[in-house]
Amino acid sequence: MATRVTSGRYETVQAVFSGVLDLLASRRCAACDRIIDLQTQAFCRPCDALVERHHSTGAVFEYGGPVAAAVGRFKYQGRSELGRVLGARMAEEARVWVGRVDGVVPVPLHWRRRRTRGYDQAALLARPVARALEVPAWFRCLRRIRSTQSQVAISHAARLRNVQGAFRARALAGSPRLVLVDDVRTTGATLAAAADALRAAGAGEVHTLVLAVRVLGRAT
Ligand SMILES: [Zn+2]
Repeated sequence: MATRVTSGRYETVQAVFSGVLDLLASRRCAACDRIIDLQTQAFCRPCDALVERHHSTGAVFEYGGPVAAAVGRFKYQGRSELGRVLGARMAEEARVWVGRVDGVVPVPLHWRRRRTRGYDQAALLARPVARALEVPAWFRCLRRIRSTQSQVAISHAARLRNVQGAFRARALAGSPRLVLVDDVRTTGATLAAAADALRAAGAGEVHTLVLAVRVLGRAT
């Protein structure tokens, strides 16, 4: 009993501590780490001025500049807390689907990469999106069954081969309408392969939403 109380207290302290860390983290620019006021969302004012918005449904930003810096921190420097502010920007974009979808599905990492990184970035982005849409986020619906190389440095044909059959989805009852969420779209091949797996499992509709679109061949 005593042990349980102690461990409960420890968990409470831990939860409060991580809450404080979240609060502190949310006051830093996602791109340059400059301290910003609480009202500012993801970027400080100078960075925000350099951010390029994407102008069609399904993506928030063009990849590059402060957005590339933020994605780099988020994915490769262990800054998992950025998922909340970046996901909030995606949640705004997702409002076009309010009342028109049944669930949000993140594009999963292969388990080996998730274990190395410690978290799955698309899953962190999917949470605020699902909250905004008032639907559940389905984290176990889609699995990456094959580890794939990065899509950036390989040819178009190789990209398609690279992700073909890389995903498998659990059987979906009732033809659910889904929003598939990922961090960066490079060629669309990964999203297409994941959407194919969801449709094969019974999804009625699959919309896609990414934080940023990378235009290949453009300097970042
Ligand atoms: Zn900044």
